[in-house]
Amino acid sequence: MTTSPDLTDAERARILAKTARFAPPLAQLADGRRDLVGLSRAELAAELAAIGEAPFRAKQLWHWIYHQGVTDFARMSTVARPLQQKLAEAFVIGRPEVAAQQTSADETRKFLFRFRDGQEAETVYIPDRQEDRGAVCISSQVGCTLSCRFCHTGTQALVRNLGAPEIVGQFMAARDAYGEWPSPKGETPRLLSTIVLMGMGEPLYNYENVARAMTIVMDNEGIALSRRRITLSTSGVVPMMDCAGAELGVNLAVSLHAVRDDLRDELVPLNRKYPIAELIAACRRYPGASNARRITFEYVMLDGINDSPADARELVRLIAGMPAKVNLIPFNPWPGSPYATSKPAVIERFAGIVMDAGYAAPVRTPRGRDILAACGQLRTESRRAAVTRRVLPAHPPMQAPSDPQAGDRLARTG
Ligand code: SAH
Ligand code: SF4
Repeated sequence: MTTSPDLTDAERARILAKTARFAPPLAQLADGRRDLVGLSRAELAAELAAIGEAPFRAKQLWHWIYHQGVTDFARMSTVARPLQQKLAEAFVIGRPEVAAQQTSADETRKFLFRFRDGQEAETVYIPDRQEDRGAVCISSQVGCTLSCRFCHTGTQALVRNLGAPEIVGQFMAARDAYGEWPSPKGETPRLLSTIVLMGMGEPLYNYENVARAMTIVMDNEGIALSRRRITLSTSGVVPMMDCAGAELGVNLAVSLHAVRDDLRDELVPLNRKYPIAELIAACRRYPGASNARRITFEYVMLDGINDSPADARELVRLIAGMPAKVNLIPFNPWPGSPYATSKPAVIERFAGIVMDAGYAAPVRTPRGRDILAACGQLRTESRRAAVTRRVLPAHPPMQAPSDPQAGDRLARTG
């Protein structure tokens, strides 16, 4: 079953309109200085033109910002001192503030980033211990509009979308923490070598900001991370999956988690809007899927809920003929979570059925569980002051007032 193009267009327009109501604040300081991070090349050129500078300056600044990673105009050695000063009067090169960070026994590191309006989101760096590389798990929203039953972020209402500067900024600030500047070129190994849009929030409900941010990250004269090193995970916002495929071409991961609509309706409530058949059809038409670039199906293993051999067989039937792999994620508990993790033998049996059908089915060893940094454990306190300005009246008020003790707060969040 496919959605008709008209319906899809209308749906897309509706989603984008709704998104606008959760727009991030302007990337500007109280003194009026504009943050240059997160602007497209054309926007950067326009900002420079506004202060009387020639277009070639945009290329120069792009190099300093995204290749060299400098945050201080005074370090731009190819820019004359008077212009450095002029730039510093009009602009900043921003980063989210590191409000707190924790490192797990397995070296996974969780950052709590605070943005200019005081809102916070978490970012996780997951190093590969065998190789010099690692994944940066980036958040796209503060909270989430969806409320998947097994997800900690889902217990936090959506506060707002993150802006492109805040999304790129998470990656750049993580690179700062590991000193990985300038951006390694070509095939030079990178410590922070892949991006997974699997942190807080549903990236396809903040598509425009995510797309802007990823376009910057992929730019060859800057951070230059190829689209093959970026994976976007969605709970199944079908109309926006087509956009992401056509415009970004990044790898796709789909949070399936159940193979029958009745169960998926319960676990991933978005399924009531875009049921399994529509979701699978969108995966089948996702461009560029091949054996070298398979679609990842994420499947959280919940004890006695979705982990039977019959579920595994139905999963194989659903994805038949698709270049796909299945990531089996043992459920990561969080305070008050309503499920238990499937038993290891049950997970092995499930994986065996999927593998016998010819699909890779790795069991994802949880990383950073001890610091609540594993899949689905992220959650931040929401700040009431900012919420009252941003959240629609229909949304419930946020849970807790702000707490100035960041270290304290991190200990309580996930
Ligand atoms: N909103 C997007 C991306 C963020 S969640 C999405 O839902 O795909 C990243 C992955 O972690 C998703 O597959 C999500 O379903 C999974 N997840 C959420 N809570 C989890 C938990 N408690 N244990 C294991 N995986 C979880
Ligand atoms: Fe949102 Fe993804 Fe969590 Fe569902 S699993 S509540 S879509 S972050």
